[in-house]
Amino acid sequence: MPMNIAIDGPVGAGKSSIADQVAERLHILHLDTGAMYRAFALHALRSGVDTADWAALARLAETVDIRVQYADGAQRTLLFGEDVSGVIRTGEVSAAASAVSACPAVRARMVRAQQEMARKADMLIDGRDIGTVVLKDSPCKIYLTAEPAERARRRYVQQLEKGDTTPYDEVLRALIARDEQDMHRQADPLRRAEDAVLVDSTHMTQEETVEAIVRIVEDVYGKQ
Ligand code: C5P
Repeated sequence: MPMNIAIDGPVGAGKSSIADQVAERLHILHLDTGAMYRAFALHALRSGVDTADWAALARLAETVDIRVQYADGAQRTLLFGEDVSGVIRTGEVSAAASAVSACPAVRARMVRAQQEMARKADMLIDGRDIGTVVLKDSPCKIYLTAEPAERARRRYVQQLEKGDTTPYDEVLRALIARDEQDMHRQADPLRRAEDAVLVDSTHMTQEETVEAIVRIVEDVYGKQ
C-alpha cells in the first residue's frame, strides 16, 4: 500500500506551499488537486460553456484530457497536452474553478483520476474532499485552516508580490465567497473528516506548520 496523506482546508490556508514543503521533507510527490479543477475551469471558459450549466459541464467532463506530470518534483498540469500551470492562477479561473467543482459529473471524473494516481505512488494530496472522498480510507488526514482575515492577508501579500494590487477588502470578500461556495455545495462540500487532525495556522509560521504536519505524518507512518 502506498503512503497516502490527505490535506484539506479552505482557500488561503497555505495548503499548496505547506504541502509542497512537507512532501519534499518526506521525499514523496505532492498532488495539488485544485490545479485539476482550475484546468477544467479554463477549458470550460475557453469553450464558452456557462460554468453554471451542469449538463454542458458533464459533456465536457467526458472528453476533457487533464494530466499531471512532475518535473524535478514540481507538478505541471496539462490540458490536452498544453502546460497550463501558470495560466490557471488568475482570479477569473479561481472563481470559475469554484463554480465548476460544484458539478457532480466533474467531481466524479477528477476523483477517479486522483485515486488512480494515489494507488500508484506515495503521495501527499491536497484539496477540499481528500480526507472525506478521494482518500477516505487513508490513516493520515490533516485539516489545515486559519482565520479568514489572516488567510486573506496572506493571499493579499502573495498577490502584491506578483504585482496584483487588488485591495485587501476585495481579497477578503472573494475568499469568503469561495469558502461559502466550497462549504455549502451539495456534492462533496469542504468539511473536516471526523478522523482528520486539525491544524490551525493562524498564529504559526510556515516552518512551524510544516513541522507540525511532518510530526502528524510520522505519528502514523513512522519516521521517514
Ligand atoms: O485549491 P484551489 O484554490 O486551487 O482550488 C480551486 C477550486 O477548486 C476551489 O475553490 C474548490 O472549489 C475546487 N476544489 C475542489 N476539490 C478539490 C480541490 C479544489 O472542489 N479537491
